[in-house]
Amino acid sequence: MSAPRLSFEFFPPQSLEASFRLWDTVRTLSPLAPEFVSVTYGAGGTTRDLTHDAVKTIHNHYGLNVAAHLTCVEATKAETMEICDRYAEAGVTEIVALRGDPPKGAGAFTPHPDGFADSCELISALADTGKFKIRVGAYPDPHPEAASDTADIDWLKRKIDAGATSAITQFFFEADTFFRFRDRCAAAGIDAQIIPGILPVENWKGVKKFADRCGAHVPQWVIEAFEKAERDDRHDLLAVSLCSELCTDLLEGGVEDLHFYTLNKPHLTREVAHALGVVPQATLRDVA
Ligand code: FAD
Repeated sequence: MSAPRLSFEFFPPQSLEASFRLWDTVRTLSPLAPEFVSVTYGAGGTTRDLTHDAVKTIHNHYGLNVAAHLTCVEATKAETMEICDRYAEAGVTEIVALRGDPPKGAGAFTPHPDGFADSCELISALADTGKFKIRVGAYPDPHPEAASDTADIDWLKRKIDAGATSAITQFFFEADTFFRFRDRCAAAGIDAQIIPGILPVENWKGVKKFADRCGAHVPQWVIEAFEKAERDDRHDLLAVSLCSELCTDLLEGGVEDLHFYTLNKPHLTREVAHALGVVPQATLRDVA
């Protein structure tokens, strides 16, 4: 089993303290030579400028290949495409194109009257520019808004047909969840790269709440294991070992790329990477 290619998701900082956390995360994880890193776009489109600035800074100062997340929420088509122009000018060549979630308390997603109606429209517009590699989200446990499992896969196929070439999945806890999804995508004729999204559990209660909200199934054995680990003060030990085991199962099943949701906390991700045989690479800049 060879070492996997890794990528890391960060979120843009909204305070001075959060900025230090982000830079510490980038500095800790960049020696692992990620294929790409990505920067999220706040729910409800709330971090448009912060995301742009974080993407540009990481791209310029760390020489990393950065994929900027972009959503359809609360923006006109013109505003969204203007952000893309700014990315292209800054040398950013990858976008994670999403429909996005509505602002807190707003209920269901409602397109802006002059905005993109859904992720497929955004993907087509990005593909028309010819300037970006387009990645999209995918859901091994069906998305809460999916009419059925089949509808979810059909929709992913439409996103690929619209111009996306890579999908990153929502997190999940068992490798079989991913393998079943991968098989169903293949049967539907989806031949784009599908990268499993991996969440090292930093905070069990927070993850459980988030999983319930976004439709990610949490097996009973995982719930019991974390409840016991918290009682025994072994949370991080369990988080690293479960996550390493999940990644190993995925790699043994033929997966070559893993995308880590770091939540701007690098240490569990780094430990899992080390367990998988990914070790820091010295760059020319380090030794010069
Ligand atoms: P889509 O794939 O377009 O839709 C989700 C599901 O809803 C589809 O599978 C389909 O079943 C159904 N659906 C949607 N539209 C239609 C339609 N027109 N016709 C039929 N069915 C439809 N959110 C943020 O706000 N900012 C981020 O930076 C961010 N990053 C993310 C990164 C990844 C890798 C993932 C997996 C999710 C991310 N999210 C982010 C969350 C995401 O915005 C939400 O899950 C959102 O509800 C769906 O966005 P999407 O582009 O994946 O949706």
